[in-house]
Amino acid sequence: MTLSEFFGRFLFVRKCAACGELLPYEKEREAFCDTCRAKWDIEKTFECGVCGKAVCECICMPRELSGSGALCLHKAVKYSADNSSAHNAVMFLKRNKNPRTAGFLAAQMLSVLSADKELPTMEPENTIITFVPRSRNAVLRYGFDQARLLAEALSERTGIACEETVRRRRNGREQKKLNAAQRKRNVKHLFEPIANIDEAVSGKNIILIDDIVTTGASMAACVSYLVRARAGKIICLSVAAVYKDKS
Ligand SMILES: [Zn+2]
Ligand SMILES: [Zn+2]
Repeated sequence: MTLSEFFGRFLFVRKCAACGELLPYEKEREAFCDTCRAKWDIEKTFECGVCGKAVCECICMPRELSGSGALCLHKAVKYSADNSSAHNAVMFLKRNKNPRTAGFLAAQMLSVLSADKELPTMEPENTIITFVPRSRNAVLRYGFDQARLLAEALSERTGIACEETVRRRRNGREQKKLNAAQRKRNVKHLFEPIANIDEAVSGKNIILIDDIVTTGASMAACVSYLVRARAGKIICLSVAAVYKDKS
């Protein structure tokens, strides 16, 4: 080990984004330890009960989102709240503005997006990346918005412009404490379009990013503003999405 490598160890602590375990120096570019990476790879291959494809190939939308005007929803992995790599990594990113984690998750999203059948009909210069904004409280508390961070990481990798299109309203009630019916009613009051949304969106194809999609209500609310602003094709993209268990 050289002295610069040795000193480099003290500049930032390299921890697995999912379990917090210290990563060896030679793995400094990785976001996950080997165990969590293996777990992530399993979460990627979970089979969708509707289309029968692996999650990383499934483009099914939750009910709230279908009919919104979006074409599909891509997701890198299945989400579950119980200690899944996806859950832990997204929670880690929420609290830590960590470029390695954001970069890893953006790369995973890019790999599922790159198979989209609409891409050959979309031009990069006529496409923007945008995101479902976090609550104002979360942004105040953590100092940044992890959905924006993911969108920017994807923008950096692809060269496609990232733009804010929808904002959180002041005094909006948090979605996560509500049930599905309440979410549906509440979500209409959560978001508002930015003042010049027409200018930003009109005629442009959209890649709409969120970290986790549960009911799809927040995403659908954002899609409705994009549609109203006469967006072109709208493709939704998330790190993880909830799947109902097969019954
Ligand atoms: Zn780990
Ligand atoms: Zn599916």
